[in-house]
Amino acid sequence: MCGVFGAVLPRGSGTEAAAVAALGLFALQHRGQESAGLAVSDGEQLMLYKDLGMIASVLDERRLPSLRGDLAIAHCRYSTTGSTIWENAQPTFRLGPNRAIAIGHNGNLVNTRELLTQLPGGRGRLPASTDTELLTALLADEPAADTVDALRRVLPRVRGAYTLVVLDERRVIGVRDPHGFRPLVLGQLRTETAGGAGLWADDTATGWVLASETAALDIVGAEFVRDVEPGEIVVLEQDRDPVSVRFADPTPALCVFELIYFARPDSYMEGRNLYEVRRRMGMQLAAEHPTDADLVMPVPDTGAPAAAGYAEASGMPYREGLVRNRYTGRTFIQPSQTMRQRGVTIKLNPLREVVRGRRLTVVDDSIVRGTTTKQIVDLLRRAGAEEVHVRISAPPIFHPCFYGIDTQVETELIAATHSEEEIRAFIGADSLGYLSIRGVLAALDLPYEGFCFACFDGKYPEPVPYDAASRKFMLEEPVGARG
Ligand code: SF4
Repeated sequence: MCGVFGAVLPRGSGTEAAAVAALGLFALQHRGQESAGLAVSDGEQLMLYKDLGMIASVLDERRLPSLRGDLAIAHCRYSTTGSTIWENAQPTFRLGPNRAIAIGHNGNLVNTRELLTQLPGGRGRLPASTDTELLTALLADEPAADTVDALRRVLPRVRGAYTLVVLDERRVIGVRDPHGFRPLVLGQLRTETAGGAGLWADDTATGWVLASETAALDIVGAEFVRDVEPGEIVVLEQDRDPVSVRFADPTPALCVFELIYFARPDSYMEGRNLYEVRRRMGMQLAAEHPTDADLVMPVPDTGAPAAAGYAEASGMPYREGLVRNRYTGRTFIQPSQTMRQRGVTIKLNPLREVVRGRRLTVVDDSIVRGTTTKQIVDLLRRAGAEEVHVRISAPPIFHPCFYGIDTQVETELIAATHSEEEIRAFIGADSLGYLSIRGVLAALDLPYEGFCFACFDGKYPEPVPYDAASRKFMLEEPVGARG
């Protein structure tokens, strides 16, 4: 999972496009913390800056003033194909015979190996080892004169999850794959009138932005216009309204995990505010798995809305029993097991006054490998908790994700290899309960169709070839190596 942002501003905006894109990206930091980058176009040339690290340390005031141009795209990365190395940071950039192109990609392709066979010169031409680098090379090579035509020719051969922001010399282009696994929204920037200080002196001037989540529109002061539809290309150009081009029939399968866990609670998806959705998931959870306890507490921060709903529905008091150090990042997103294990102990501290001698209902939004939950239960017991009842506002994750969440190795998923009772024993809880798929749907008040639930029920909307499994590093294997 990654965050993407794109901006097209009126002519002569100086470095404002880079500033708007960086600001929008800040709102998406939770979507990827391994690297960040920004590409701008001044109408003739593309310029790019990217590096490993958090957005604030990569896109700081030393860098932004040098990124001049009215068009910009930005990206923060969480790796699902390729290692965390500088070359794999995005946006990618490629100068082809017909175009210069930069791309920010959220998602994961499932036919990377097949696409590689279509690239003249093969793996040796790719400086990076990501599926995005390969896609960028294919698009830059495509003989069509126009970038949108190149997208229309190449994308039908591409399978898997891809939400893209594409930059050429004159346009920012948003793309969602036919399933729309990952979100993308269109927003409009308006200058403030009635004496307000707008971005530009010209009151009629507007800009257009694309973002992974609506919260990023709020942060830059853009109005939500609409979702980019699955199978749609949206072309943003100066002095024009956005142009929509269909490249495939939509077969929507939005990742339900975006609504359960990944996206910000202040974002909206499918017309739903995600805080409200998660609060209702907590209420459903309380109905499905009641506890006899003294209080309800969340695993901060992402478990908070569901814990609030659980408390509301159960009538138990809501307390915060863990304090989160906000500057250490999300454990699930950090790429190695060693980092994850270190992460939890430096990021959560129990509030002993709340926890000591109490029977706790602890609400979290997922158990992936189980190690984080085990450490949290252990922390709470050492702080004096009498009982710890763990409630999860999502179903068990039985199956790996190949569409942009780094759970590609089935054996790392505790629910794939352990019974619920074994998981309870492993994490050391007094009881354990997961929300059902039916409960998720009741909270969403939306039909099953239209979502991907594959990590819960194994029904993959896009067939996954056998060798896509555990192939995060497939482009790093020696040429000719096969899994
Ligand atoms: Fe989301 Fe799970 Fe589907 Fe992956 S498999 S896209 S995490 S619902």
